[in-house]
Amino acid sequence: MSERPIEEPPPRIAGAEPPASLYVHFPFCVHRCHYCDFSVHRTTAPPVIEWADCIEREVDQWFRRTGWSRPIALETLFVGGGTPSLLGDGMLRLREVLGERFDLDSAAIEWTAESNPASLDETVAGSWLGAGVNRLSVGVQSFDDDVLRWLGRLHDAAGARRALAAARSAGFESLNADLIFGLPTSIERQWGREVEAILESGVTHVSTYGLTAEPGTPLRRRVRSGDVDMAGGESYAREYLAAVEALEDAGFEHYEVSNFALPGHECLHNWHYWDGSAYLGLGPSAHSCIGGVRVWNVFHWAAYRRALTDGGSALEGHESPGAGESRLERLWLAFRTNRGLALDDPLAESVRAHAGGLIETWRRAGWMETDEARVRCTTEGWLRLDELVAALDGRMPNADFDE
Ligand code: SF4
Repeated sequence: MSERPIEEPPPRIAGAEPPASLYVHFPFCVHRCHYCDFSVHRTTAPPVIEWADCIEREVDQWFRRTGWSRPIALETLFVGGGTPSLLGDGMLRLREVLGERFDLDSAAIEWTAESNPASLDETVAGSWLGAGVNRLSVGVQSFDDDVLRWLGRLHDAAGARRALAAARSAGFESLNADLIFGLPTSIERQWGREVEAILESGVTHVSTYGLTAEPGTPLRRRVRSGDVDMAGGESYAREYLAAVEALEDAGFEHYEVSNFALPGHECLHNWHYWDGSAYLGLGPSAHSCIGGVRVWNVFHWAAYRRALTDGGSALEGHESPGAGESRLERLWLAFRTNRGLALDDPLAESVRAHAGGLIETWRRAGWMETDEARVRCTTEGWLRLDELVAALDGRMPNADFDE
């Protein structure tokens, strides 16, 4: 696939406020899972130094094009992938690169890194703590060996337990596990037992994602050829609701459609996306939103590396959303979290003026709830989030939107 970087984003970005939130993409995995559509380059020997050099060049371009001064005070840093645990102590090199440009010394920064159980051990976890990482996310996905084999993961259930134990014994107090649900029913998965296992593992945060057959993935081709039957809506809803019930009973707050946290362990980084704050993304496929402009990088590692080593930019495109698009996005972001929309927000006033009847119908159906300050989705509402938001948006005239 050919990817052509553009020269520069629009001038609106110059002089924009610096972001409080930074994402860095590490695009390397030993093996590609058949459902994955992320920017991933398959290798057993990731070029860590070359990648960190590219990140350094890219971040310096951002400082030049915006006029930001060093150091920027960050609230959150998220190193995702890919498989960042293949970085090993390369995280210290990333800290050097970023530490010269961002203030990483504040104890208040939430620094998350993603990991794969197959490459996370106590040495990696200990080295990351030393670099400043204080929140670890582990791609557990399942505690069933058959399920993990079907997903094409490199670890088994014992490996997932070992990785979580290594993270805890290294000293991580804030620990997320990702779990996938909504697998084909032919796998006959014992979902309830897996949720219990995650609760016994001592994590402080759980992210549950429904499996989807994304375009261009081997899974999508298998679904098209009739080789795989994706889970129907009923089984998807049953597993989702079972996870919500078990996690809430164990004291986890369901604070976003896919995310659950013990008190004090919500992912602040994601809140920056959901509340519409500016954010900067570095690395192949990374997206940024700076000065109200959305900007994204070329997708593949090879194109990204080439652009930056040739002295060019890795940016591939940009867009400034119009009023209607911004409204749809704000509705979708607001209703996916348990904060919902504040009733004194002009957008909520517009919703009530044009779609108050729908909200009332959904409230009676148990899909939305309101109190004196906010309107939000219930768990049942989150199961149909896209439909609800599209219906609300469809009721409102663009002229009524006050950006
Ligand atoms: S480990 Fe994660 S990023 Fe890598 S291929 Fe699998 S799903 Fe994709």
